[in-house]
Amino acid sequence: MITDYFRPQTLEDALRLLAQPNTIPLGGGTWINQPHAETVNVVDLQNLGLTHIHKHGNNLEMDACVTLQQLLDSPHCPDALKQAIRLESPLNVRNAATLAGTLVTCGGRSTFATAMLALDAKISVNTDPKNVETISLGEYLSLRSLPGKLITKISIPLNVTLHFESVAKTPADTPIVCAAACRWASGRTRLALGGYGQAPTLAMDGTEADGIETAARSAYHEAGDDIASAEYRADVAATLAKRCLA
Ligand SMILES: Cc1cc2nc3c(=O)[nH]c(=O)nc-3n(C[C@H](O)[C@H](O)[C@H](O)COP(=O)(O)OP(=O)(O)OC[C@H]3O[C@@H](n4cnc5c(N)ncnc54)[C@H](O)[C@@H]3O)c2cc1C
Repeated sequence: MITDYFRPQTLEDALRLLAQPNTIPLGGGTWINQPHAETVNVVDLQNLGLTHIHKHGNNLEMDACVTLQQLLDSPHCPDALKQAIRLESPLNVRNAATLAGTLVTCGGRSTFATAMLALDAKISVNTDPKNVETISLGEYLSLRSLPGKLITKISIPLNVTLHFESVAKTPADTPIVCAAACRWASGRTRLALGGYGQAPTLAMDGTEADGIETAARSAYHEAGDDIASAEYRADVAATLAKRCLA
C-alpha cells in the first residue's frame, strides 16, 4: 500500500526523496499499484523528462521512463527485441510500463529481460545528479538491490545481430522456454535463456558461437518446475539456441 506520494520536478529532488527510508521510485505503476502487504512511499518519476530514446554512435540510449510501447514503436529498436517486447505484456500494460520498472520486477519468464541480457544491456544508476554508475544488466540481476538509487538510463549496442525464439502454450502466452542470441562482428556470442526461475539466465558469453547448443542444454539441465520438466526445457533450449543461430 502507498502511504506518501511525491512528484518531484528535478532529478536532485527525486534522489533526495529516495534517500528516505522505505521510499521507492514509481515508474509506470503497473506493479506498484497491485495489492502489496508492505507499505511504501513512492517518488513518481513522470515529471523528470526521462522519456527519450537516442541513437548515440553504435548504441541505443533509452531513458528509464521510456515505456515498452515507445521502444516497440521506435525505428531504432531491433526486430528481435520488438518480438520479445510484444510477448512481454499486452498493449495496455506496454503503454504504461517503463523499461526500468520492467527490468526491476522481471522474473525468469520475462522475454524483454531475456533479450536485454543477451544484448549485454548497460544500466546507468544515479546516487546523486552528477554521480552515475554503469552496471551490466547481468550484474544488476544478480544483486537485485538499488536502495536509494535510481535507474536513469539503459543502453544497448546496435552494431550486433539479435535473434529471439520462444516456445509457449499459445503464441501470445509467456514462454515455457525462450532464447535470445546476440552476435558481435568480432564473433562474440551471448546466449540468454528465459522461461524459468527468478531471472533470465546467461547460458553463454563466448568469443564464437561454437558449443551454443551444449551451453543451452547445460544451463537448463535442472530447470524443472510444475510447468515443464528439466529434460524438456533443456531439449527445447538447445533447439531454440540452434534456431537463433540459423
Ligand atoms: C494486467 C497486468 C499484467 C501483468 N503481467 C505481468 C506478467 O505476466 N509478468 C510480469 O513480470 N509482470 C507483469 N505485470 C507487472 C508489470 O507489468 C511489470 O512489472 C511492469 O513492467 C513494471 O513496470 P512499471 O514501470 O509499471 O513499474 P512500477 O510499477 O512503477 O515499478 C516496479 C518496480 O520498479 C521500481 N522502479 C521503477 N522505475 C525505477 C527506476 N527508474 N529506477 C529504479 N527502480 C525503479 C519500482 O520502485 C518498483 O519496485 C503485470 C501488470 C499488469 C497491470
